[in-house]
Amino acid sequence: MPRRFRNLIALLLMTLTASAPIVSAQRRESVDLFVRGGTVVTMDATRRVIDDGAVIVKGGRIIAVGKRAELEAKYAARETIDATGKMIIPGLINGHTHIPMTLFRGLADDLDLNEWLTKYIFPAEAKNVTEDFVRAGTQLGLAEMIRGGTTTYCDMYYFEDAIADETAKAGVRGVLGETVIDFPVADNKTNAEAMAYTERFVQKWKGHALITPAIAPHAPYTVSEEHLKAIHAFSERTGAPVVTHIAETRKEVEDITKSKGAPPVTYLARIGFLTNRVIAAHMVFPNADELATLKRLGVGIVHNPQSNMKLASGVAPVPQMLAADLPLGLGTDGAASNNDLDMWEEMDTAAKLHKLFSNDPKAVNAQEAFEMATIRGARAVHLEREIGSIEKDKRADLVIVDMDDLNQVPLYNIYSDLVYATKASDVRTVIIEGRLVMRDRRLLTLNESDIKTRARAFREKIVQSLAPSSAPKR
Ligand SMILES: [Zn+2]
Repeated sequence: MPRRFRNLIALLLMTLTASAPIVSAQRRESVDLFVRGGTVVTMDATRRVIDDGAVIVKGGRIIAVGKRAELEAKYAARETIDATGKMIIPGLINGHTHIPMTLFRGLADDLDLNEWLTKYIFPAEAKNVTEDFVRAGTQLGLAEMIRGGTTTYCDMYYFEDAIADETAKAGVRGVLGETVIDFPVADNKTNAEAMAYTERFVQKWKGHALITPAIAPHAPYTVSEEHLKAIHAFSERTGAPVVTHIAETRKEVEDITKSKGAPPVTYLARIGFLTNRVIAAHMVFPNADELATLKRLGVGIVHNPQSNMKLASGVAPVPQMLAADLPLGLGTDGAASNNDLDMWEEMDTAAKLHKLFSNDPKAVNAQEAFEMATIRGARAVHLEREIGSIEKDKRADLVIVDMDDLNQVPLYNIYSDLVYATKASDVRTVIIEGRLVMRDRRLLTLNESDIKTRARAFREKIVQSLAPSSAPKR
């Protein structure tokens, strides 16, 4: 080729490559956030996994998911996060907590539910739970959950309005239930007070982008039939979810059967309490008919394997629930009966517990365990249209997880790696409603050292409040 032709071609090529980005920049839509380059585990209906993928966020929602190169040509972002060599997963959903109980972590262990509740937890709560306590414990729990990639949690406690306030400030998503129980508690002394508090609480937070206010009758053995019916009516009128504990222990099933003539799920269905707004934690002892009732009524169920193991409550029929395609999530329960808020441990435990218990290594596989912490968990808390997967139009709750830590190498199957090998400490960056709440393990909305100082100060108060016989020994 003559030299002048070669020069001409070179010149043409230079012009083309120089002008290409300018042309596409003009066409690119401007967005808030571009998460680029990671392996996207979408958890959409086809369980698509996209290598060298990207997620585009605008106005707190996901507006596109796909291949990095294709989306780079279409969008220009104010902020870009490089997730190359990492996994991008849907934010994890902790379906059952009592978040301020982080301050009772390790106060009393190695006891059954009845002794643990009546000798330690209820007395410690009676003497220590104030709004200040609740705020301090909530901040501690929020920080721990963000660190572990949990972006949504479902809670039941006292002073839930203060919990909602702390949760919104930290930028975390919550389905938050104010407790209703038939004895005087820290925030409300009577049922009338509790119902009035919940009315104000639900009206105040209804429609908030992050907070779904709920009502939380403690359990069928601590709330009367009349009060449960009133709570159902309240939920019908306001649309508020109903967070509760059902069929947690054999004793509960025996007691309810004796007093109501039917086991808990049958009794609660009979009085009209169970609906597709109910989120029922534990559900260790439903019978086969009751599983069908739960399915028919659309009740959300939250499995708490570590709490059930620690209190030796029993083993929920999870393989049967999955076979029936029930809306089944995973939860840690309060930190006093777990003793952490780590959803990675919960997934791992769920998969292994049911293999052992059913004597079948195929029971609850890794993908099913991961589904319970994401998309199936979203169904359990009745938010499947908003969260639980990385899909267009869903809320931008995204977690970027390392995939090259020693415990993750070499990688054969992504769900196996996530459930059996990945740890909470592998979580790098957390985004909720399109907002960064942790970047490269640094918390952006909470002050870690202040939180620890306050929690330790409460420890001293709690120890002093208990009788010498029940005070914990170091
Ligand atoms: Zn609980």
